Amino acid sequence: MLRSVILAAAQSSQVERLVEKVPLTRDVVNRFVAGTTTADALRVTRGLVADGLAVTLDHLGEDTTTPAQAEATRDEYLALLDGLAAAELTPAAEVSLKLSALGQVFDEKVAEEHAQAICAKASEAGTTVTLDMEDHTTTDSTLEILARLREDFPTVGVAVQAYLRRTEADCRELAVPGSRVRLCKGAYNEPESVAYQSRLDVDKSYVRCLNILMSGDGYPMVATHDPRLVAIGEDRAKWFDRTPDEFEFQMLYGVRPEEQQRLVRAGYTVRVYVPYGTQWYGYLMRRLAERPANVGFFARALTSRK
Ligand SMILES: Cc1cc2nc3c(=O)[nH]c(=O)nc-3n(C[C@H](O)[C@H](O)[C@H](O)COP(=O)(O)OP(=O)(O)OC[C@H]3O[C@@H](n4cnc5c(N)ncnc54)[C@H](O)[C@@H]3O)c2cc1C
Repeated sequence: MLRSVILAAAQSSQVERLVEKVPLTRDVVNRFVAGTTTADALRVTRGLVADGLAVTLDHLGEDTTTPAQAEATRDEYLALLDGLAAAELTPAAEVSLKLSALGQVFDEKVAEEHAQAICAKASEAGTTVTLDMEDHTTTDSTLEILARLREDFPTVGVAVQAYLRRTEADCRELAVPGSRVRLCKGAYNEPESVAYQSRLDVDKSYVRCLNILMSGDGYPMVATHDPRLVAIGEDRAKWFDRTPDEFEFQMLYGVRPEEQQRLVRAGYTVRVYVPYGTQWYGYLMRRLAERPANVGFFARALTSRK
């Protein structure tokens, strides 16, 4: 119930204006968002890479409703990739893309063309791209665009969401040589017809998907802060003889930083998902909605580094 309210608030510009005025907001945003500019993103990336972490950068801009906004997002990514290459932060840093930010909502073809341009620039910069997964109405389109992007850029990765009933089957299709697949629980409010609703069912699906990816031929990216699932990830990597260059853990910027460091010290590759940009509101609200029982996700993360 609270989750639905928060996700509804995420769509409301009135609530957005209200939240921006709360004094705590600045602290919260700084902890979980790298800043608003490309320079901010590069500065935070430099620090994380110096600490032994890999990075994926997300330019926050999902409310794209016009071709001009889509072009601006593409250009932001192109500038970011130039900046990463110039700062010698590739291949440690790659970029994460939301196709909705490139115009998927009003013209899939335009979104795909922009994604092609970003993949080409990433390749020139010596790095790659991962497609974020958004609400379930976009899953087929995103996987189709992924397949076409991979014809020219085979290292393009994709996120899949364990809460969707279809994801086990998608993992089977995606667990092929060279295929980078980020497994996450899923962050949107989805109906029962397409998604598991209880935490237990989502976690069980996560483990089934993890087994498929870890036993398959692709490159699994285990994206979770859940201590039990991280432990299962470590276990499966040993079980399936995966060396640290054959899979990775991923966590969000600002969430469980000490655990990120523990995994690095244990010899694993850990990639931090770093959002930046002026449109941080929807991102922040989705993170809040993940833990509606106490809306303490941020409060706890602000006080706990573990
Ligand atoms: C790298 C990355 C990329 C992502 N990309 C996408 C995407 O493309 N599409 C999408 O829908 N979703 C994406 N997500 C979000 C994801 O789907 C989940 O909503 C989010 O990660 C929360 O799920 P969780 O697995 O961390 O477990 P949760 O169920 O949120 O947390 C499980 C447990 O983890 C521990 N924990 C969590 N947070 C903290 C904290 N702050 N401090 C201490 N302990 C904590 C607690 O023990 C908690 O009970 C991504 C997540 C990551 C990490």
